[in-house]
Amino acid sequence: MRYRGVVHSALDAIVVIDESGRIREFNPAAERVFRWKREQVLGLEVAEVIVPPEFRDAHRQGFKRHLLTGVSTILDRRLELTAVRAGGDRFPVELTVTRSDSGAAPYFTAFIRDLSEHKRLMAEVAYHARYDVVTGLERYSILEPRMIRAVEEGGGFAAVIFVNLDRFHGINGSIGHRNGDEVLRAVGMRLQSLANQHIAVCHFASDEFVVVQQGGDSAAAVGLAEHIRNLLSMPFEVERYRVLLTATIGVSHAPAHGRTALDLLRHAQAAAERGKNLGRDCVCSFQTEDMQDIEDRILMGGLLRQAAQSGEFALHYQPKFCAFDRRLTGFESLLRWTSPSFGKVPPDRFIPVAEGLGLMPEIGAWVVREACRQIREWLDAGYAGFTVAVNVSPQQLRRPGLHRAVGDALKEYRVPPEMLEIELTESTMMENLGRVQAELGALKALGAQLTLDDFGTGHSSLTYLKHFDLDKLKIDQTFVQGLPNSALDASVTRAILAVARDLGLQVVAEGVETTEQAAFLRELGCDELQGYLLGKSAPAVVAESYFAPIDAELDR
Ligand code: C2E
Ligand code: MG
Ligand code: MG
Repeated sequence: MRYRGVVHSALDAIVVIDESGRIREFNPAAERVFRWKREQVLGLEVAEVIVPPEFRDAHRQGFKRHLLTGVSTILDRRLELTAVRAGGDRFPVELTVTRSDSGAAPYFTAFIRDLSEHKRLMAEVAYHARYDVVTGLERYSILEPRMIRAVEEGGGFAAVIFVNLDRFHGINGSIGHRNGDEVLRAVGMRLQSLANQHIAVCHFASDEFVVVQQGGDSAAAVGLAEHIRNLLSMPFEVERYRVLLTATIGVSHAPAHGRTALDLLRHAQAAAERGKNLGRDCVCSFQTEDMQDIEDRILMGGLLRQAAQSGEFALHYQPKFCAFDRRLTGFESLLRWTSPSFGKVPPDRFIPVAEGLGLMPEIGAWVVREACRQIREWLDAGYAGFTVAVNVSPQQLRRPGLHRAVGDALKEYRVPPEMLEIELTESTMMENLGRVQAELGALKALGAQLTLDDFGTGHSSLTYLKHFDLDKLKIDQTFVQGLPNSALDASVTRAILAVARDLGLQVVAEGVETTEQAAFLRELGCDELQGYLLGKSAPAVVAESYFAPIDAELDR
């Protein structure tokens, strides 16, 4: 044969047969694929060697017909067939046969490619498209079309149960990812044990699962969700660890909560989100308000990005007074957003959204600048001896750059730094002690005053105060509310004042609404008072009126 070298080194198996169907050439690739040695098969009929027994007759007839009539169904085409190896093992091949008439008699060359590996990979890809690698459960994308059919076509009742494992990344962190995967697999198996013709289970994402129940009613769906919560609360044994899990579960159902799979899923997720805020480890059924949060995030988010540039933000100012001589000591600036589409949005609603989007450093920088601009305006108008407090969100403290924004604003408006108070919230100060200490140190070095806001509501103990160089504590309004009658609130307030005195800190009380509260706080030695009794927050032009001597409201 002229192309022996090529045939010898070809990657495809090449088998040449003569007009009697006998093997004349069998290259090394063919030896590998069919597991015959060339010497063993040369001269044998090809049908006997590589064609599975049940196709041999058909092969012979087709071959004979071709030699007689010249007609062929296989020549020069790519075919996928089953072949057989030495030992009888069958496998898929891709085959192309060409005829050559250059010699005295025709001969045929078959190019054969083993497709086993290719097929195996295809099957694996198809498997992974369908099943989650870790849990072995079907993926949500596979369940969803079925869910859509059930919900959209079938009508009737269907429930979507969204299962979110609580603090799972913490588990991964403590026992390692490999063991974490084992736990997820075990969770998957427990959930899968619930599957039947009415209940389908799938993996949604990392530590989230979706269970769909068809038929039944809302009580049954919540019952199933509670059952799942119990099922997952039993310990998981992985290696030498005993892992205890809890799950937060949201439930929604059709038709009441939606008629599309997507709506039901989103609503079950929203319900689970509320469960998380309620402290996790619980089952929550969807309520319309659950969507508020999520819609806020989506709709407000986009609008908040431009709000600062579009002049939609404003600062209002709430006055603070000396508890003893009722002198105005300054103002707390409170951010107000008037959105063209939402109207007036309270800060408790939009600030968490802005935090979530990472917009607080930018918005906070605007607040600081605006407060400094206002201080300058008041100074220029001849007012003196007051401070303005700005609230700083946890995110502003976590990221570098706050002190720079403050320093720039102070400089730009030539504001004496001690006129600016920074109000920090307690809860996140301990999260990143080193970072926060550095940032607070830098603010302190500028000369600004530091106040710890909402004091008493955080999780930390009083002793951690010594980690920070603070000037003032602000007693949270929830304690002030109960004064003077609630013994508990009174003793908390007393304790805070005693600690503050020991540490040489000033104390301001917020949310003072009654004269009794004011009198009680003054008696205990609280330095400053703030609250509706003394003045609500108002735009600067209105707040300005507090600079004039105020009535003896406190004595009444
Ligand atoms: P906060 O810093 O503790 O502010 C005090 C809140 O209590 C203000 O609500 C104020 O209007 C309200 N308040 C004042 N006196 C009384 C009273 O006598 N009774 C009652 N019931 N409430 C009183 P506001 O303005 O809705 O602000 C809520 C929270 O939003 C603030 O709590 C603060 O955490 C946050 N916030 C406001 N402005 C900003 C800001 O510029 N930046 C950041 N990061 N947070 C801000
Ligand atoms: Mg505040
Ligand atoms: Mg407060």
